[in-house]
Amino acid sequence: MYPSKFDYLAPETLEEALAVLAERGDEVKILAGGQSLIPMMKLRFAEPATLLDINRIPGLDAIDIQNGHVRVQALARHADVVRSAVIKEENDLMAGAAPWIADPIVRNLGTVCGSLAHHDPEGDWASVMLALDAEVVAVSKEGVTHFHPGADGTQHTGGTRVISIQDFLVDMFTTSLYPTELLTEVRVPRYERGGGNYQKLERKVGDYATVGVATHIELGDDDRITKAGIALTSVYAHNLKVTDAETALVGQAPSDELFAEAGRIASAACDPASDTRGSAEYKRHIVGLFTERSLAESLKIAQGGQS
Ligand SMILES: Cc1cc2nc3c(=O)[nH]c(=O)nc-3n(C[C@H](O)[C@H](O)[C@H](O)COP(=O)(O)OP(=O)(O)OC[C@H]3O[C@@H](n4cnc5c(N)ncnc54)[C@H](O)[C@@H]3O)c2cc1C
Repeated sequence: MYPSKFDYLAPETLEEALAVLAERGDEVKILAGGQSLIPMMKLRFAEPATLLDINRIPGLDAIDIQNGHVRVQALARHADVVRSAVIKEENDLMAGAAPWIADPIVRNLGTVCGSLAHHDPEGDWASVMLALDAEVVAVSKEGVTHFHPGADGTQHTGGTRVISIQDFLVDMFTTSLYPTELLTEVRVPRYERGGGNYQKLERKVGDYATVGVATHIELGDDDRITKAGIALTSVYAHNLKVTDAETALVGQAPSDELFAEAGRIASAACDPASDTRGSAEYKRHIVGLFTERSLAESLKIAQGGQS
């Protein structure tokens, strides 16, 4: 099927893009890599009156370190993350997850921020960012009132908002982004002594996850766990941060038994659907297994070994 008719705008500055968003509001869809939006338009699940292509805006594609965070800007592609020396050096979970995203063609076009803004429960990046306690930065034109279409009727007067990833990812295909806002970056805190890992079960190379598990742990001087992140892909209505399992790990000395307990908590927390990729029971089993395995890999890295 062909998409419905739409206006196409490709501004060359962020200010121009924000002006279009402020003026045309929820008629507009931002086009980044197009790897989710274009298929949705072809199926007519999305019929925006205006497509706002942000690909010509300079200075929006960095992956770097800023103020104690690793920053991934709006036009950084999945493939840029795979190749990034900063990511390799700084963040094992992101480095480990990036090659699991789709196939090379999709990775060359699709963006991390686009994946978060889309918030498909089968998307891998949302789990990674939940495990890492990321923040996103959203900007909108200043000095005008922006309305959120949600039931609470919230509004603000524009500028920059920093939003925790948990507040950002509201529900399946739903975020707390205003229709007049543009996501400029996602950023994750740097760490001293930590490690992370992504486990993904897929039917064939390039497929969405049947089950995905992201973990991250940090260790203190006494070798106890000071910080833990666990999040699941494709086994709940949205990407699921397993806070109870994280809490069970913090303050403890890492051990196989502890990681098995975290696996049991994650397995009980998820709510997978039975489908052509496997039964709910099977997926629940894999969640437990992968959580345990992923934590063991994260620990190995945190202790200075190779995953
Ligand atoms: C064949 C195939 C296989 C795939 N496999 C996987 C997989 O295994 N794992 C996985 O995680 N994903 C997978 N994807 C999805 C892929 O990762 C997409 O690239 C990603 O979901 C969307 O990023 P994008 O830049 O293409 O966004 P787009 O398609 O351009 O946009 C998606 C949505 O986000 C909005 N948006 C985009 N950027 C911004 C921004 N900066 N600010 C505000 N809103 C914005 C758009 O308006 C739109 O609503 C696959 C896609 C395909 C086509």
